Amino acid sequence: MTNPDVQALIDLQAEDDIVEGIMAQLDAIAPRLATLDSVRAAAIKAIHQLRAAVEADDRKRVELGQRLAEHKERHDKNVAQLDLVKRMREATAAVAQVEMGKKVLLELEQSHRDVVNRATEGRKVLADKEAALEQLDGQQAAARATITAEQAALGETLEAARAKRNARAEGVTNGLRLKYDRIRQRRRSQSLFAIESGACGACDTAIPVQRRQAMTNSGAVEVCEACGVLIYAREG
Ligand SMILES: [Zn+2]
Repeated sequence: MTNPDVQALIDLQAEDDIVEGIMAQLDAIAPRLATLDSVRAAAIKAIHQLRAAVEADDRKRVELGQRLAEHKERHDKNVAQLDLVKRMREATAAVAQVEMGKKVLLELEQSHRDVVNRATEGRKVLADKEAALEQLDGQQAAARATITAEQAALGETLEAARAKRNARAEGVTNGLRLKYDRIRQRRRSQSLFAIESGACGACDTAIPVQRRQAMTNSGAVEVCEACGVLIYAREG
């Protein structure tokens, strides 16, 4: 029959496997949430950038509008002045000024139209993107609710598994339990191994026959010097 201490430790280890399995499931949820967050953050960033561009175009539109009005006023004045000019030399200069002014006016009008169109188009795209974000939030709400429910369920399962584990731990001798807990914390996986074919079940380092025999007789749990796990000799 297996040493009761060893059996208690085997039972404790089985509960720890369950606890760590649940923790791994909980850990696996984090990247799913991170993916949802990053998709949403990218949509919001695109909206902010577009909004900034539209606002910059709005400021440009106002500024161009002012320049256009000023220029138009000056140009109208020049055109009116043209009728009053009588002398030939002055008339040539005035006509040239009006022509030049007209060219500038057309250019300003074109720039103004461009910026108005661009801002209008930008606003449309912005509205689309905002609607898409709202839709995304709706879709994500379902995914997030699922994740929250999974987390809550896993949390409860974990709590129950931990309680069961702690109850099992009561059955293990104090010194042995401390040793096991330390090793388990470090390895975060199986920490108690049977000796298999005369070697440590974890690292396969051979255990001298004499020591093996002593361990079989005493039922002792010892530390493998090679890899640091707990080892015990199976009966027979
Ligand atoms: Zn070993």
